[in-house]
Order: sequence, then C-alpha cells, then structure tokens
Amino acid sequence: MAASTHGGRAKCLQRLVRLELPVPRTVALSFDAVNAIAAGETPDMSALLQPFGDSAVLCVRPSSEDPDWGGPGAILNIGMNDARYVELSDRLGKAAAADLYLRFVQSYSVHVARVDPDLFDDLSDDPVEALGEALAAYEEDIEEAFPQDTGAQLLEVLKSMARAWQGTTARLLRQAKGAPADAGLGLVVQEMALGLGTGVSGSGVMQLVNSDTGARQCTGRYLSQSQGREALNQEKDAVFLQKDDRGPSLQEMAPEAFADLKTYTKLMREKLREEMQSEFTIEDGKVYLLDGVRVARSARAAVSIAVALAEDGIISREEALMRIEPRALNELLHRQIDPEAPRDELARGIGASPGAASGKIVFTAADAQAADAQGEATILVRRETSPEDIRGMHAAAGVLTERGGITSHAAVIGRGIGKPCVVGANDITFQTKRKRLVFPDGRMLKAGDVITIDGSSGEVLAGEPKMLEAARDDSFRTLMEWADATRDIEVRANADTPEDALVAQNFKAQGIGLCRTEHMFVDPSRLIAIREMIFADSSEDRASALEVLLPMQRADFTDLFRIMQGLPVCIRLFDPPLHEYLPSDRDGIRELAEALDLPVADVTERVEALDEYNPMLGMRGVRLGIAVPEIYEMQARAIFEATVEASHDGEAVVPEIMIPLVSAMREVELVKKSVDAVAAAVRTETGSEFTYRLGVMVETPRAALRAHEIAQHVSFLSFGTNDLTQMTYGLSRDDAGRFMSAYVQQGVYPEDPFHVLDVDGVGELLEIGAKRGREAAPELTLSICGEHGGNPESIAFCRNAGFDYVSCSPFRVPVARLAAAQLAV
Ligand code: PEP
Ligand code: MG
Repeated sequence: MAASTHGGRAKCLQRLVRLELPVPRTVALSFDAVNAIAAGETPDMSALLQPFGDSAVLCVRPSSEDPDWGGPGAILNIGMNDARYVELSDRLGKAAAADLYLRFVQSYSVHVARVDPDLFDDLSDDPVEALGEALAAYEEDIEEAFPQDTGAQLLEVLKSMARAWQGTTARLLRQAKGAPADAGLGLVVQEMALGLGTGVSGSGVMQLVNSDTGARQCTGRYLSQSQGREALNQEKDAVFLQKDDRGPSLQEMAPEAFADLKTYTKLMREKLREEMQSEFTIEDGKVYLLDGVRVARSARAAVSIAVALAEDGIISREEALMRIEPRALNELLHRQIDPEAPRDELARGIGASPGAASGKIVFTAADAQAADAQGEATILVRRETSPEDIRGMHAAAGVLTERGGITSHAAVIGRGIGKPCVVGANDITFQTKRKRLVFPDGRMLKAGDVITIDGSSGEVLAGEPKMLEAARDDSFRTLMEWADATRDIEVRANADTPEDALVAQNFKAQGIGLCRTEHMFVDPSRLIAIREMIFADSSEDRASALEVLLPMQRADFTDLFRIMQGLPVCIRLFDPPLHEYLPSDRDGIRELAEALDLPVADVTERVEALDEYNPMLGMRGVRLGIAVPEIYEMQARAIFEATVEASHDGEAVVPEIMIPLVSAMREVELVKKSVDAVAAAVRTETGSEFTYRLGVMVETPRAALRAHEIAQHVSFLSFGTNDLTQMTYGLSRDDAGRFMSAYVQQGVYPEDPFHVLDVDGVGELLEIGAKRGREAAPELTLSICGEHGGNPESIAFCRNAGFDYVSCSPFRVPVARLAAAQLAV
C-alpha cells in the first residue's frame, strides 16, 4: 500500500500492523475508490463491512498524501444504533453506552446530515436523557428516524467525507500548502476501541521527546472515558502520562498499559525510523494503537531528533543531514533560555518570532529608543504594534503584545528583523496608561521591571534566567560537524567588523570571503579624515590625510587577522564613489566647510564636481583606485603592516586583497604593480617576509567574459553577484524595488534576481567566467560573495560550476554549511 495511492495514514497503519502492534482492524480505501464515491458510485458495502463482524463500532479517518494537506474530520462511533446501545449498556453500563450513541448521533447529524448544530444546544446533562432528546431532534429536523443500519450509516459518512475533500475551500486550503490540483484522499475505516466504559478506559497521545527542545522526555496526555484527541482538547481534565510531581498520571493509574505504550512508541521509532507520536485508546485496561503520527517539532527539536536517530544507529548520518531543511536552522541561531535554568513563568502568549530576550519593561517605542541609546535592553510591551512602533522594535531586545496572532504586525516585523516576539498574551492585563502589567497569578510588574520573553514557546518569565547563546546546542554542533565532514565546497563569511568576524568564527566560517573596507569609515573621526583626503589639492596633501587613516585601518585589519586565527581573510579595496562621503544639503556643507576651514563656495564646488549622473557606473571601485592611487596604496600598506603585526604573535597571515569592479585586464596590471611595490616597501621597512594573494571581484559582465586574461594576473576570482546582476540586467539595485513586485507578479522575472540567482543569465556569466578563468589558470580559486552566496539553490549552482567556496553573511553560514553538505550526500 503506497502513500501515493492510499495516503500517509493508511500506509503508516499498515506498517504498524506488520510490526504486530495492537492496531484495531483496519480497511483502507484508495484515492480512486474515494474519487468514485465522490462521483456517486456506491462501493460494495457488504465486502467493506465483512472484516469487521456484526457488532463492531467503526470510525472513518482521512488519509491524504501529506498530513499537512488536511482532510475532513474523523467520524467516530459509526454503527451505534438502538440495538447496539442495548448490547453495550449490558457490557459498559448504560451511561457509557448512551454517551457513545449520543456522540455518534451528534457528529453524524452535523457533519453528514448537515443539520444545524444549534439543535443540540440544550441537551440534558444526563447522557441517557440527552440521547433521547438528540434522536428526537434529528427525527424532527430530517423527518426520518435516525438510520439504524451500519452499512447505510457508513456509506453516508464515506460520501460526505469524499465530497468534503472536493469542496472548493478544502481544495484552495491544501493547494496553498503545496498540494497538487489532483491531490487524492484515502479513507481509513477502523474498528474502534471504545475508550468509554468499565475499568481503565480512555484515550490519549504519547511521544518520547519534547517537541520544543527535542529532549528525551515522555510527554502526552491521557483522559479517562474519552475518544480520539479529546485528551488534547480538554487538557485541564487530562492527566500526564509519566509519574512525576506534577499530579496524577497514567503510569500510576495503569502501570502495565503505560509500560506497553512506551514499548510500542519506542518500537515505532526504531522500525519507522522516525520519532512518532502514538494515538492510543485504552479499553478496560488494554492498549490499542489507533495511529502513529510524526512528532510535531520545532526546528531545534528537529535537529536533536535527527541527530539522536543517527546516534542510535536508526538512520545514517547522511539521512540525518538530509532531514533538516537548511533554512529551518535560522530558528536555532537565536539566543534561548537554558532549559536547565529555573523558570518563573508569569504568563504565556503565542511564540511568534524565535529567540529569547530579557530587558526592562517599556510601554512606548520612544522609551525603547531612549533606553537603547543608554545601552539598556528593553522589552517593548504594546497592546498591538503598528508601523510607528518599528523603530522601537529595532531598539528593543524583544516585543510582547496583548493582541494578535502569528501573522500580526508585531509577529511579521519581529521575524523580519530577527527580534524575539510573543504576541496574543491576553491572559495578562495590560494597563498601558498606568504603565503596568497584571499577571494571572495577581503579580504586578511596572515599567522598568525586568522580564524575559521566549519567542519560541510564548513564555513570559519574571527576571532574567540563564540564556544559551545561539548555536550552543550539542545536537546542532554535532549536525554541523557531520555537515562539515560531508561537504565538498567551503563556506566563508562576509564580515566587515570585528563583531561580524566573531560571529563568523562562532559559526565556523572557513575564513572571511569579503571584508567591505568602506564600512570601516562610518565612524565620525574617520569620516572627517576621508573628507580631508577628498578635499586635498595635491597628491602630498592627499597622502597626509591618508596618513591619519593608515593606523586606523592597520588596527582594523590586525583585529580581523587575529580573530580569524590564520584563516583566510579577503579584503576588498575601497569600492564606493567618493560622493557618498560628502554632505548633500546646505547645512551639511556649511558644517564641513567649518571643519575643513574652507570657504563654503569651495566646498560646494568640490561637492558638485564629484556629482555623477550615474554614480554606480561611475568613478568607483578600481576606477577610483586608478584615478586616486593613494587610497589603494594606503590600504595595501595597512594590510601588509597588519600582516606583519598579526603574524608576530599568531599564525602566519597570508592576506587576500580583492580589486572591485574590474572590467579590463589593464586595471589589474596597474593595481598589481602598485600593490607589489607597497609590499616590497613594507618588507624592507619591517625586515619581515610575507606573501599575499591578489584577486579580482567579478562584478561586470566584461570581467566574466575576459576572465582568461584577468586570471593570468591573479590568484582568485570572486563573483560579486549583486553588481553582476545589476549590470547584466541593466537594473538598478537601489531602484528596482519600485517595479519588482509587478514584474514578478506578471511573470517577467520568475523571482527577484537580487534574491534568487538568475541561473539563466547571470548564471551563464558565472559559468563562462569560471571556465575561462580556470582554462587560463588551473589553480585559480573561484568563489561567490554576493548576497546569493547563502542561498541553498545558489550554492548548488556554484558547486556545479566548480567553485571552491561561497561567502555569505555570518548568520547564514550554518545554513550554507548544511545546504552544501546536502549537495554532497
Ligand atoms: C557584489 O556586488 O556582489 C558585492 C558583494 O559587493 P557590494 O554588494 O558591496 O557591491
Ligand atoms: Mg559590488
């Protein structure tokens, strides 16, 4: 029985039967059979009923190919009628028998006969009386007695479920979850273990791991005198499974049944090679397994489950790697509350953006910003958020709202900016005007008090429990080690600052693939030096302004080299057009004139002179490097001096220097000559030997096409697919947003090419560049460092094109490591 003809549930049940687990007798109807029923055909009912015998009570449950695609709700207790009621009254007692019959009358009426559910609003509390009332209500509404024949009942149930699957709403819902237009529905007809009656009788679910953390822990609920998933829906009446100090447990009520269940659930894990949840019914002390479903899990739990299955020898390491969607790791890369730390829970909402954060309560976005300016962490507490709160959300460590769900403003923005967020915490009383929160247990906290939110679990805690930094989980580390042992393409990080480099190290990047040096000049003291350099009249003046920048850059690079401990660091020479460092308004120009002690007119003139119609295609990158050679000379000197310094007390550093925006071989020759001269000078001055690697950033189509010429002069080519996409399409990176969604909606582009690499066009340039470059210089190192470098799809493309590494932002390094490993499995 394949999942693709009978659905996943049928397939799973068949496997459980083969394992000789106590599954009640089951018959599965295929997609074709269900389609035929929906089309009006009547199956052979006596053949269908034959396996069950005369007195069985049945249920029908949906079995679609993928459980996420949904399906009509299960109908239980089919076969209950007047005669069986009498029979069961003797066996189970009148109340239990009446309850079973009543449940069926109600669900059949509402879901199959489609009577108004309000009809059953005022039923008596006594099940026997209520049954009489419900039967009467049915008869009055439908003008027929309640059907008594099991075959007739079952046929109507099958028909209504088959038709429900074909309804428009159901179809749209599942298609939104990726189901194909012709997705089929199987149906599973199963004899029921009743769960109601004498002895220990009830139902519940069991799993052996915690769905949030993946820790091994027997969790689940059991509810006496219940059926289906009632134990989960009526959690307050249900008991825990395993004995502990939280209250009564199934283990105490029925130790044997508990032990059996655990054995079955373990066996499912081993034999189905997956962490499973058992749905069970206990009838008079005996356990029946109705179903096994894949345990629902957070991304963190998914990693820990996959690693544990591999460590227990149930699946291979490769399979464990394949079971984790690389992008799902994003959820693990945030801070978490240490699971071992004591938690003082105040309330719970909906965990809407992963990660945990602690901070002082603030009630307005402005307060969050003010506190942030003082370096204080806050939790921004709002009834709900709106666009005016976004700056406050950026400034806060986390966000807590009273209202809203998983797609509310706070939730969407929180996830977008990577801020932990708990929404819909409506059992807290938000007294925002009085700046206080009153919690369900009566505790009151006010602005300035410290709370912690857990954006994964939705918990709101008092104080500041111990946190685990991102990526400190053992399973994550193990999975990443396996990924590293498997993959055959390297992963570096784009890192401009020591902070970025530390994150890159923490995530085990194999070096820095792109350090954008211009990001080192945002500091005001450096900005003024750059501006002085821009306003210098002579080469000497320029050199003396650059003298000021030299020690700063040297310190920057020394830091990076030290942090990366001998791993390669690829430094890109200055790239942006100079006008980005100049003010554009009158006030700014006046301030600058004052700072430089120059007449405003002179400053205005220079600013105007540097103005370009199309600066991104103007004097930037290597063009600036050639027109104003002192900048690159200063940077080269800083790099080499830092190399000497960092090599004194650590691993020998071999810096990589990358020239941006190259389009002609001669540009490379010129820069190379000047960098070589600086290297020679530094060697002489310091008496130290060092080597370096020079490379070109392939960002113009021409550089890709002439890669064979360029490759003769360099050790590496790194494809800057941001600019290369911009130039291949002739599409401004900064302005494309205006029409991009119209373009994608109308299918002009399949996706935004700045997000998803255009393999047809830009991709062909990558392939041409790689091929021509390697033909001229077989040892050439090839890489990608544009934003695409962290996308699993682009990594696959680059690997096929023979690239040595990809480089992406530090937080995407783990995703890239796993994606790369999956390609090599
Ligand atoms: C690129 O163009 O792809 C690149 C990495 O450089 P930047 O984004 O700094 O232009
Ligand atoms: Mg670029």
